[in-house]
Amino acid sequence: MAKKNHIHMYELITLKASGRKVFKCMLVDCTHYLPERELVIGRKSLCHICKEPLVMTREHLEIKKPVCEPCRDIRAKRREAMIAVGRGGELLEEADAD
Ligand SMILES: [Zn+2]
Ligand SMILES: [Zn+2]
Repeated sequence: MAKKNHIHMYELITLKASGRKVFKCMLVDCTHYLPERELVIGRKSLCHICKEPLVMTREHLEIKKPVCEPCRDIRAKRREAMIAVGRGGELLEEADAD
């Protein structure tokens, strides 16, 4: 069974049957998900990079793998560097793997 007392690590997934996007917890054995994306606002989620808790906001609704602000900054810098060497596309696709 799923552990009850943990902070979920939300990931935006697309339901194949309806094509709807919902946030689901990606931790092993946890089947928790939110039927409406907006419900995630104000909830805690674990950052996909550093695994520290962050509070979900409206800004996170379109982000497949939510990350905390420090990690987002680091990633933005990395992306700029990648684009600078002409590999920006690769990095963007990484976040989209199913
Ligand atoms: Zn969970
Ligand atoms: Zn982080």
